[in-house]
Order: sequence, then structure tokens, then C-alpha cells
Amino acid sequence: MNCKKCGKEFYFQVTEMNVPGGKEREYINCPHCGETNGSVVTSGVVYIHKIEESSKN
Ligand SMILES: [Zn+2]
Repeated sequence: MNCKKCGKEFYFQVTEMNVPGGKEREYINCPHCGETNGSVVTSGVVYIHKIEESSKN
């Protein structure tokens, strides 16, 4: 997805863990600028990854 604020690409991945009754709201924050781009309710963990346009290190 693209950040609604800075327009840069990133993706998020929800990893469910089977913990009964342990659902919480996790916010999807842009790794580039920190803008919140929605949220998911999950009992697992949300991983957010940058997608860099170039591969310089
Ligand atoms: Zn952003």
C-alpha cells in the first residue's frame, strides 16, 4: 500500500497467533513518516516493511 500522507510504498503483514480472547487493535504506521494508515484488530503481530525505491545501503 501507499502512505496517504507521504505516498511512499510499504507493506504490512499480520501474523496471527492463536491466543484466545487476546485481540487488540494494531495501528498501521507508515515506516517512512509515521502517519497512521488505518488499523487492524488481531490477536497476532503486525509487521510493517518499507519498500525502498532504490537498493542503496
Ligand atoms: Zn508516510
